[in-house]
Amino acid sequence: MFESLSGKMSGVFEGLSKRGKLSEDDVAEAMREVRLAMLDADVALPVVRDFVNKVRERAVGHEVLESISPGQAVAKIVNDALIDALGGAGAVPLDLNAPAPVPILMVGLQGSGKTTTSGKIALRLSQRDRRKVLLASLDVQRPAAQLQLQQLAERAGVGSLPIVSGEGPVQIARRALDVGRREGYDVVILDTAGRLSIDEALMQEVRDVREATRPVETLLVVDAMTGQDAVNTAQRFNEAVGITGVVMSRMDGDARGGAALSMRAVTGAPIKLVGTGEKLEALEEFYPERVAGRILGLGDIAGLVERASETLDHEEGERVAKKMMAGKFDLDDYASQLRQINKMGSISGIMGMLPGMGKMKDILESKDADAVAIFRKHQAIISSMTKDERKTPAILKASRKKRIAAGSGTTVQDVNKLLKQFDDMSTMMKRINKMGLGGMKKMLSG
Ligand code: GDP
Repeated sequence: MFESLSGKMSGVFEGLSKRGKLSEDDVAEAMREVRLAMLDADVALPVVRDFVNKVRERAVGHEVLESISPGQAVAKIVNDALIDALGGAGAVPLDLNAPAPVPILMVGLQGSGKTTTSGKIALRLSQRDRRKVLLASLDVQRPAAQLQLQQLAERAGVGSLPIVSGEGPVQIARRALDVGRREGYDVVILDTAGRLSIDEALMQEVRDVREATRPVETLLVVDAMTGQDAVNTAQRFNEAVGITGVVMSRMDGDARGGAALSMRAVTGAPIKLVGTGEKLEALEEFYPERVAGRILGLGDIAGLVERASETLDHEEGERVAKKMMAGKFDLDDYASQLRQINKMGSISGIMGMLPGMGKMKDILESKDADAVAIFRKHQAIISSMTKDERKTPAILKASRKKRIAAGSGTTVQDVNKLLKQFDDMSTMMKRINKMGLGGMKKMLSG
């Protein structure tokens, strides 16, 4: 996610940071590029305008332009403005503060990923939060949708409401709450019918169900890949029925990220969760500060550590992350990460979390199979190095490179590419440290 925006944004700030002193013109030029990058990413125009104005105002102050590294100061301002636009630091958790069974209403257009997301939320609440969850489909028009939800419930290992034909949505919702009460469920997730487009009948149905069940959360699921349409849909749902939060599905396929950036500003509703794949486990909390980091090419170290701790050797992930933050990351650590990345699932998804990877176009744009090939090559190259070479890549001169290329069945050019990329990563990590995005460190030690 956000690959294309990230590639451009990190380019802008790299340009700025190369210059020693900045003039107002430099900042204006950089802001023009930021503006284009955001429009290209399909961010809503008013949001872009507001964003750029805010940054410009803060950036042309004397303190920034006179500071030792104005480029970084401007990047920090942009980083903060991105976090603001995305809704402020910190994930907004699901609100489950109500007497059990807590009703959660799922709304959205057909095909948005609503049913899948209902299953994902059910799995998360039951596995991570140890809640007893009941899933119920209110889609009386499409029996297939009811069956789909039943199967999802089985896969997630949660309860599902027995299907009774002939009932209307409100009746089903009431029955779900009754069963929930009688059988000791903590949460009842009500998956309303989807329509191909927003119409009054759909909205009335949602309002009726809401009236009957008084849910604490009315979550709208939108498809991130539909860009501005997702934002328009959210706006209309919010006006018609009132939503408490948004779940953006298919973030894994959305390289642009415009919908995520416009959502809060346009609708006022927070993005609470994002879907990052078809599997039931592919659901993540939405941390604006991490997303901003990814967009600026600073990576998402906290997210990476979290993902790693769920799939892999926790200690190894933490050890490497700590070295990253201390600026002591070496080629051995990089190789260790490559080995682990293979275990963590989608490579292109994970690469976006590593600092300095925003520019690695060939990997981010390649399919996972190609990315695997590139990383195999990197692993082969690193394993042909001596211990000293891995610790201190700076000693790698022409003759050593030749030896390594021959030893790993690659070319000197491949070796150079790897070193260049490692360099980019190191530079970016140093920049993160200097900018003092201290939140990340806190997250790591906390
Ligand atoms: P509904 O009509 O809104 O209930 O949509 P479904 O839940 O049936 O989802 C439609 C399709 O989108 C299915 O093939 C899902 O597997 C897929 N899908 C849902 N969420 C995600 C996601 O976060 N990422 C990806 N890649 N696919 C998703």
